[in-house]
Amino acid sequence: MKYKRVLLKLSGEALMGQQQYGIDANRLDQYAKEIKRVHDLGLEIAIVIGGGNIFRGVQAENSGIDRVQGDYMGMLATVINGIALQSSLEKNGMYTRLMSGLEMEKVCEPFIRRRAIRHLEKGRIVIFGAGLGNPYFTTDSTASLRAIEINAEVVLKGTRVDGVYTSDPEKDPHAEKYAKITFQEVYEKGLSVMDMTAFTLCQENKLPIIVFDMNKGGNLFKVIEGEEVGTLIN
Ligand code: UDP
Repeated sequence: MKYKRVLLKLSGEALMGQQQYGIDANRLDQYAKEIKRVHDLGLEIAIVIGGGNIFRGVQAENSGIDRVQGDYMGMLATVINGIALQSSLEKNGMYTRLMSGLEMEKVCEPFIRRRAIRHLEKGRIVIFGAGLGNPYFTTDSTASLRAIEINAEVVLKGTRVDGVYTSDPEKDPHAEKYAKITFQEVYEKGLSVMDMTAFTLCQENKLPIIVFDMNKGGNLFKVIEGEEVGTLIN
């Protein structure tokens, strides 16, 4: 096993599976099983989950909702996903804690850094919900900052694409995948990995990122074993 403690970032959209909206139970169960496989190795895992399958702050502006209010709606969406993920992980036999950036004590614990670390040491999977609790941020920024705070060795960004490409592989048939790339090259080539706030945080704190396809069975396991899957940014 290459890592001891990781932060896994899952987008809300990934939870939709084949659906147009919401949470696909099969997808959720599939993720729980992938996570269990690496947890069984003794890996300490923290998870940040997005909310894009339910609501995004920027969406709000189109529907006449104030941006900041919209961002709070987005944060609440991540809590909904967090509860769903928690329940699915527990059904698969793991112990978990949901910690929130917004206080909501009936549903989850508040985020307290030292407590989060203690949960991880005890083998609990920690899910960070409600992002950072501040508007104008994203769950990518949450992933970067929380990863730094808990001393994770790497941010694993599980997406639908299997890495960082020279251009958008869903549009350009000639797009080529990078196995490795530096932070500097990502800037220079204008590639998109995460939003800039999130990306800069990782760069400044020398926290590597691996972008990989979380939907492909066994990929998370391979990443943890140190196999070359997806793209490594460092
Ligand atoms: N959000 C926020 N502050 C945070 C994290 C999230 O305001 O610290 C809001 C923001 O509106 C964002 C939404 O929550 O659009 C859902 O998160 P995100 O879009 O990052 O989810 P993903 O794209 O990963 O599904």
